[in-house]
Amino acid sequence: MNTVASMNTDELRELYRELIVDHARTPRHFGALDTATHTAEGINPLCGDKLHLYLQIDTNGVINDAAFEGTGCAISLASASLMTDTIIGLHSKAAMAWFDQVTASLAGEQESIAHDKLNALQGVREFPSRVKCATLAWHALRCAINNDTTATKTE
Ligand code: ZN
Repeated sequence: MNTVASMNTDELRELYRELIVDHARTPRHFGALDTATHTAEGINPLCGDKLHLYLQIDTNGVINDAAFEGTGCAISLASASLMTDTIIGLHSKAAMAWFDQVTASLAGEQESIAHDKLNALQGVREFPSRVKCATLAWHALRCAINNDTTATKTE
């Protein structure tokens, strides 16, 4: 079986495209979370993406559960799905380290994201108008962790 490291660029692109389509069609952790301790809204007026993020963070700062609901384009849904999948079980500081990597990569400030699945998001850089779709869930994550209750807007 091919490892990600041994794949050529075309194979990687196809893998990433399939991953995005899969997460957009079947979002993981989609729905409300009754046990949420932290929540945030995210709105991307450019595309019409809206999401509500729920986090259950314990007293040690560990994200025990995460979920989201909302409506949006395939990229916004896939990004929120990949994000919740990644951050469950992480300390909120570790989750914010992924926020830093994803937003820096999508801003073109760093080449790739050091995570096999999250790296699929960097393909969105080829479509600059969609970058805000991909970062929406991540900005909501930052607001939820910081207990910032104002709705996140991407512009
Ligand atoms: Zn969108």
